[in-house]
Amino acid sequence: MKLPSLNIQIILGAIFGVVIGLYFHTLGAEAVPVKGGLYAAGLIGTLFIDLLKMILIPLVFCSITVGIANLRQHQQMHRVWVSTLVFFIASMAFAITLALIAGNYFSPGAGMQLAMFDSAMQNFEAKQLPLPEFFAQFLHSLFINPFAALSQGNVIAVVMFALILGIALVMGGERYKNVLSLLQEGLEVSMQIVGWVMRLAPFGIMALLIKLVAVQDLAMLNTLAKFVAVVMGTTLLHGVVVLPLILYLITGKSPLWFWRGAREALVTAFATSSSSATLPITLRCATQHLHVKPEIAGFVIPLGATINMDGTALYEAAAALFIANLAGIELNLAQQLIVFFTAMIAAMGAPGIPSAGMVTMVMVLQSVGLPAEAIAILLPIDRLLDTLRTTVNVEGDMVGSLVVQKLIK
Ligand code: ASP
Repeated sequence: MKLPSLNIQIILGAIFGVVIGLYFHTLGAEAVPVKGGLYAAGLIGTLFIDLLKMILIPLVFCSITVGIANLRQHQQMHRVWVSTLVFFIASMAFAITLALIAGNYFSPGAGMQLAMFDSAMQNFEAKQLPLPEFFAQFLHSLFINPFAALSQGNVIAVVMFALILGIALVMGGERYKNVLSLLQEGLEVSMQIVGWVMRLAPFGIMALLIKLVAVQDLAMLNTLAKFVAVVMGTTLLHGVVVLPLILYLITGKSPLWFWRGAREALVTAFATSSSSATLPITLRCATQHLHVKPEIAGFVIPLGATINMDGTALYEAAAALFIANLAGIELNLAQQLIVFFTAMIAAMGAPGIPSAGMVTMVMVLQSVGLPAEAIAILLPIDRLLDTLRTTVNVEGDMVGSLVVQKLIK
């Protein structure tokens, strides 16, 4: 019997995952088959993420170094840098603007009171995260001993070292050609391993979604329904209309063509809630399905996975407005502008792991004097909201690689 294509298997895995998760939810977490099922789902889901994380660091390291080295040979480095950063900042600015418009228009949280959530907030102590300190810390984390960065799986520091090494290899020219070809082969062999890990993807994704759906706290979701609807609605608007429109206007590529090529990565991002764990698959989709040149994808996508987060930026701004409403504080235009900038910095600084956005959100709240403990209200529903925002984060990286490829032509 011929198996359906991997793409179809992944979609089927996702659908089965949600259906089985819902079934488990109705049975209740204490039922014996549910306990066993969740245990198995936990094992398989974690194994899938572990395998992705295993290959992540060698892949990022080789792909950036080789990408930079190849770009420099074509004298295009400068244009790639500039267009990548401009795209990242512009697309996050669009996302935050959407969140601010929707938040002001629908005012989720208005009419509710912070006091309703007192007990949730009591158990939560917000860590101080003032902007200047956060910035200093972020800067400090960029450049560390590359061996420590590689062994700790510190993606952003690996990205930085790989950039520098790539430039050094080009400067050295012929002298370092062996190191370069070693890394080139490293990249190829890493992609080969990613191909193997992908065979597990349908099961991994199914397992992750079973767990996610089965343990969802529906009561809290109900209380916060309006906020959840506004966040999901605007995130979808950004992912389904804004990003595809930017893609179409700049490259002429149709959204359907894009989604067909990108869906393996999008579904994985949804199930794992981690741009970093998804990164090996994002690179694979960009180079193999969307035909982005490896030297461009190899640069734009790993960098994007760590700093370009449209969904997270949108969420941070929306949540700040929501908490302001709960606290009965009206944010004026200047304060909303502060939210705009801090949300962007907070999103850039958030690592690509589940719920990272919640940690850096403390900074956004504190910047306009909102109670950071209020984050405790959003924690129970965060895993659910994280699915969609991570998907849009990853979508933004792939759109970015196509846009940059077109702009430097
Ligand atoms: N989970 C998101 C990501 O990996 C980050 C966040 O929490 O917003 O892209």
